Amino acid sequence: MSVRDFQHFINGEWTAPAGGGMIDSIDPSTEDVIARVGRGNAHDINAAVGAARAAFPAWRDKKPKDRARLLFDLARAIEARVDEFAKWETLDSGKPLPRSRGEVLSTARYFEFYAGAADKYYGETIPLGADYIDFTLREPMGVTAHIVPWNFPMNMIGRSVAPALAMGNTAVVKPAEQTPVTAMLLAELMQELGFPAGVFNVVNGYGTEAGAPLTAHPDIDCITFTGSVETGRIIMKTAAEHIKPVVLELGGKSPNIIFADTDLDLAVAEASKGIFSNTGQVCSAGSRVLVEARVRDAFVEKLAARTNQIKVGRGMDSPEMGPLVSREQYERVEIYMGIGREEGAEVAAGGNRPPEFEKGFFWQPTILDRVTPEMRVAQEEIFGPVLAVLTFDDEAEALEIANGVKYGLVAGIFTNDINRAMRLARDLKAGQVYVNEYFAGGEETPFGGYKQSGFGREKGLEALINYTQVKNVAIRIR
Ligand code: ADP
Repeated sequence: MSVRDFQHFINGEWTAPAGGGMIDSIDPSTEDVIARVGRGNAHDINAAVGAARAAFPAWRDKKPKDRARLLFDLARAIEARVDEFAKWETLDSGKPLPRSRGEVLSTARYFEFYAGAADKYYGETIPLGADYIDFTLREPMGVTAHIVPWNFPMNMIGRSVAPALAMGNTAVVKPAEQTPVTAMLLAELMQELGFPAGVFNVVNGYGTEAGAPLTAHPDIDCITFTGSVETGRIIMKTAAEHIKPVVLELGGKSPNIIFADTDLDLAVAEASKGIFSNTGQVCSAGSRVLVEARVRDAFVEKLAARTNQIKVGRGMDSPEMGPLVSREQYERVEIYMGIGREEGAEVAAGGNRPPEFEKGFFWQPTILDRVTPEMRVAQEEIFGPVLAVLTFDDEAEALEIANGVKYGLVAGIFTNDINRAMRLARDLKAGQVYVNEYFAGGEETPFGGYKQSGFGREKGLEALINYTQVKNVAIRIR
């Protein structure tokens, strides 16, 4: 397979990186180089922000229905190329091919959903009495910055860029250095479809070299970041310098609470999906299962049996689970396995590199049993296919353990007791709560964190708040 080279996409043109360097992107299944992208720096960022700024007035002033049409066209065009996009997403990230297809189609769905909202996000009239007319305008922010992680490379661009463009903003995207390719394919497509130059720009590069100057640029108007807590903290500090609003979607250590009254086979299947989807590299992974003590043995036995059946393989072979994205992630998982063993957790399934692979960042789907709440493997985000199983005796204890971490992204509840489900849904500190189906929801449902999982909501109409600001106009009738 030939290696593809991509320059930055700035002002509708392919632009050589100012510093001249390129970054290799590798297939985590084989460790082969599959593409090279520009190694961006502050000069490239400056050019991209300048282009986005210049494009903003015309894009803002376009009729919303016309912006919507272009975004609908983009959704259809992504769907038409799903095979090509999915192939590259898999090569770049290691995801099983069917999963990449799903994520590409979901990207199309984001553009469709927000295209539909472009001409329907109204302001309000506010009653001030007979002598006034008062109304609000929802205006775009301007130039929006999007710092994208490697776990859902294309999908996350859709998630934040679609609402930004729909509301009349322009965008500068900095993809993750590990998984830059689909951003470039999207840029190609937007160029073909005739998006005005400068509306969508992509600068690749490392976080410190390209991401940092983007977040520090005085001429951006807001920042959307998805990634680690550490980087989120840096970005928030940088944003403070120019008083820029940020949306931060950070980590999680989400609880999946399983009560004895639930169908155990369902709970096993959902717990497995919750942790092993995308090789556990999901902010909202159900990485802690809290299981009621009296069904613990039966649950762990069934879950271990299911886990041992999961086929791990190269993304292009459509296995159930692919490799981790990078050597760095692989080493992180290895380190946490050591920590878990030292803390006294029992390995009920997996726990090692699968022996059949000489190359690639593969790890067995792993269950750590007899984990207790204070252990690091119960508190810290591993971001790999490693599940911590904890037990509880009653609902109050389940709630305490569930809320007893610094994160609060999502939570799952499996029970047939509607009142218990409602009580927990009320009391769990999490931005999304799933009852009887893990990851329930979609592009339509607001997503974001409590506590150190971040703030601001993406997805759904809720996300439009991030990309608009409200102006109130008060008119005195004389
Ligand atoms: P991870 O450590 O798992 O790679 P990060 O949170 O560091 O996750 O990365 C998420 C995104 O943030 C990537 O696009 C990365 O390049 C970018 N990034 C990393 N450091 C910075 C920084 N200091 N400023 C801006 N962006 C950054």
